[in-house]
Amino acid sequence: MNPTPSWQRSREAYQRATRVIPGGVNSPARAFGAVGGEPIFIARGQGAYIWDLDGNRYIDYVGSWGPLILGHAHPAVLAAIEEAARLGTSFGAPTERETELAELICQAVPGVEMVRLVNSGTEAAMSAIRLARGFTGRDRIVKFAGCYHGHVDSLLVQAGSSATTLGVPNSPGVPPGCTSDTICLQYNDVTALEEAFRQYGATIAAVILEPVVGNMGVVMPTREFLHSARDITQRYGALLIYDEVMTGFRLAWGGAQEFLRRQQLQPKDGPDLVILGKIIGGGLPVGAYGGRAEIMKKVAPAGPVFQAGTLSGNPVAVACGLATLRELQKLQPYNLLEQQTRRLCQGLSELARSCHIPHQLQQAGSMWTLFFNDQPVTDYRRALQSDTQRFARFFWAMLEHGVYLPCSQFEAAFVSIAHDDAIVDQTLAIAREAFTDILSL
Ligand code: PMP
Repeated sequence: MNPTPSWQRSREAYQRATRVIPGGVNSPARAFGAVGGEPIFIARGQGAYIWDLDGNRYIDYVGSWGPLILGHAHPAVLAAIEEAARLGTSFGAPTERETELAELICQAVPGVEMVRLVNSGTEAAMSAIRLARGFTGRDRIVKFAGCYHGHVDSLLVQAGSSATTLGVPNSPGVPPGCTSDTICLQYNDVTALEEAFRQYGATIAAVILEPVVGNMGVVMPTREFLHSARDITQRYGALLIYDEVMTGFRLAWGGAQEFLRRQQLQPKDGPDLVILGKIIGGGLPVGAYGGRAEIMKKVAPAGPVFQAGTLSGNPVAVACGLATLRELQKLQPYNLLEQQTRRLCQGLSELARSCHIPHQLQQAGSMWTLFFNDQPVTDYRRALQSDTQRFARFFWAMLEHGVYLPCSQFEAAFVSIAHDDAIVDQTLAIAREAFTDILSL
């Protein structure tokens, strides 16, 4: 096994960054805050591996938090970026490839007849919420604790302990007025959802949810929950929004809807709007929101709901996303990804069990989370009962031995097509050491 790596150059890079970038990072999830310590700085990636500034190599289960389903620096993706960049990096005028990407998304994702490209998942969620409000003429939004939809003001709401908590912002700078129309419920809680509609139904514009949650760690929906969300929104004339920023083109070619349909969890009628990001940009910034044409035609300039972007549909980003989707369409790697992930999860679970460590390995396709929790995690309350200190020790033990995991208990890890048998075996050998290490601490 490797000796403890040197992180000297990462440490220096971090010190330098903290002088000019708040917290030294451009997004808080990267900061290692939840596991205590300083982030490592990445020099390059190839396939399933990344290398830090000190030359240490890691097996990467973050994959840029989801976009890199083909692994790092995939040749077809690099070629597409290069070719597009040579033709000019931005025009602020329409290009044909934007339509190609939109067509591919409409073909793949059930119920999406029209789609608008934006630059991030946050922007897509923000715009979808505006559209839902504009379309219905209503203000209230229902969201679920532990579901993350980007740093949109109205969605930055923490769950309270009661079933229905009306908008308490969980960041300074978000005025209570921005969140007072947000109702936050526990995931999979059908009773609370029904109660919220009984109370506020006529004023609810939309229910937004992650159809398979990645953002409190991987959590599956119940059949009853998804059916109830679909039925009740239809009954009250509200829209149902699936946030598939993480699950889109990740769980199946048709995203969570296809994945859940196979398991007979998904209702016959799909959501009214779908939010996408991550994989559709293949590692460059692309987000999207789409749905029924009747709704999407309300978006400017076709309709009155304003939304715009200088770099929306950027030609290089779109080429990168298109190349990624075309590769996925060709390979259809979803069964293989799921099998490989299952092998990894079963291996990890056996190791944890042999060390008598209470845990749950929760997997959906190629997304997985090892919860240090003695109960299955079905909502955010349960997720919060996980042993985060044990997770932090496990995270550092894995990192020291060469495996880069998401730096929080409440995140999904990702397997790419570059994670072959040998890499999974190597991960399990490292995990054996890591479990032993954390018990000896
Ligand atoms: N929705 C979901 C489900 C996400 O996982 C994320 C990002 N992790 C977002 C929205 C926000 O996307 P972005 O970070 O691209 O703004």
